[in-house]
Amino acid sequence: MSKAIPAPRGALKKSDLRAANQRLLLNIIREKQGASRADIVRLTGFSPSSVTFVVNRMLRDGLLVEAPDDNHSQVGRRPFTLRIRPEAMIAVGAEITHLQSRVVTADLYGNILKQREIKWQRDPRIMLTRVRDAIRSLTAGIPEERLLGAGISLPGTIDRSTGRVIAAEHLDWFDVEAGAILSEGAGVPCFYENDAKLGALAERWFCEPGARPLETFVFVVLGEGLGTGVMIEGRLLHGASGEASEFGHTSIVPDGRRCPCGGIGCWEEYASQRAVERLYAEGIPAKRRGKAAGVNEIVQLARQGDAAASEALRAAANYLGIGFANLNAVFNPEAIVVGDYLASAWDVMGDWVLTAMRSRGPQRFLSRLRVIPSRHGHDSTLKGAVALVLSRSLAGTGQFHADLAQPLPAAKRA
Ligand SMILES: [Zn+2]
Repeated sequence: MSKAIPAPRGALKKSDLRAANQRLLLNIIREKQGASRADIVRLTGFSPSSVTFVVNRMLRDGLLVEAPDDNHSQVGRRPFTLRIRPEAMIAVGAEITHLQSRVVTADLYGNILKQREIKWQRDPRIMLTRVRDAIRSLTAGIPEERLLGAGISLPGTIDRSTGRVIAAEHLDWFDVEAGAILSEGAGVPCFYENDAKLGALAERWFCEPGARPLETFVFVVLGEGLGTGVMIEGRLLHGASGEASEFGHTSIVPDGRRCPCGGIGCWEEYASQRAVERLYAEGIPAKRRGKAAGVNEIVQLARQGDAAASEALRAAANYLGIGFANLNAVFNPEAIVVGDYLASAWDVMGDWVLTAMRSRGPQRFLSRLRVIPSRHGHDSTLKGAVALVLSRSLAGTGQFHADLAQPLPAAKRA
């Protein structure tokens, strides 16, 4: 039993353990999108009376609601289902990018409740201080016990334990102690991750209701650069020093373009949003060149039959297909999930990408691979930042703390 294990120095307080039990139950109910008390007993392996105690406390505190199951079709008494009040717990998500930085609050299902946009500032200290101030103002008034933490999407190569940006070439940020600036006075625990990895996390955590979450897949972000987040059997791939899955910087063109990372012929130089805009600008006659066209405009022009726009997208699609075939050969994913411009231009580019991909590897591999647009579109990184908080604070150790499933002394009750 638990009392046989001496509590280590600096161990969790009773209130922390109580919160851990509560979060475990919340996570079970969230994952199942509603669970009965009997489900919880079965899944935690804990006694019905202990589960009753914790569930009743959570009902009293307004974290859960319990109602007859409307979907129950069998004859006899309808079972009661516990559901989470979506706003019972709040997570913050923040995305720091050159294009559009945002801070949001979201509920346990990833629904965005409030949002702030922050204008880009070249000076990292000014930018990060504004992000921190937005976190503070969005969370003002939310009781501490309802606030799980803030997930922060940082650009480039990062140290996710401290939130240090090691190198974000497109922002010209090197060795920026983002975590130290953000956490100082933010008022919530902060968790850090790279944007593409968060895109993958969002796909897994907030999947189609009732659908099986993807287990092994690659998420591809196509902005200024090209990032990939790799999920292997339900776990994000980080590598020995957290820098794994930088597929945007694998070289696919010998003697190709020089990349800001220092490499030559990197994939992102030929398939990112920036690459599409460059390919288009290079393909139009000099006399037609005016203001540089953005990727959305180029996609729109291609839909209207503009030859230069179609050529630029077709060239990028070819490079995307080559890269996807490479990803497939390494990871054997069940899907490659694409976001950003490729998701919105899939009607124009999808066939070109698939044709290029399928001509680059054995059919037995490639015929089963799905390439699908992200469910979260433009919000994938932000929702991933929210999922990061939920995965750190709800999933926890997955252990039910037996001794804390008993009533605490009356004085401890809020
Ligand atoms: Zn590179």
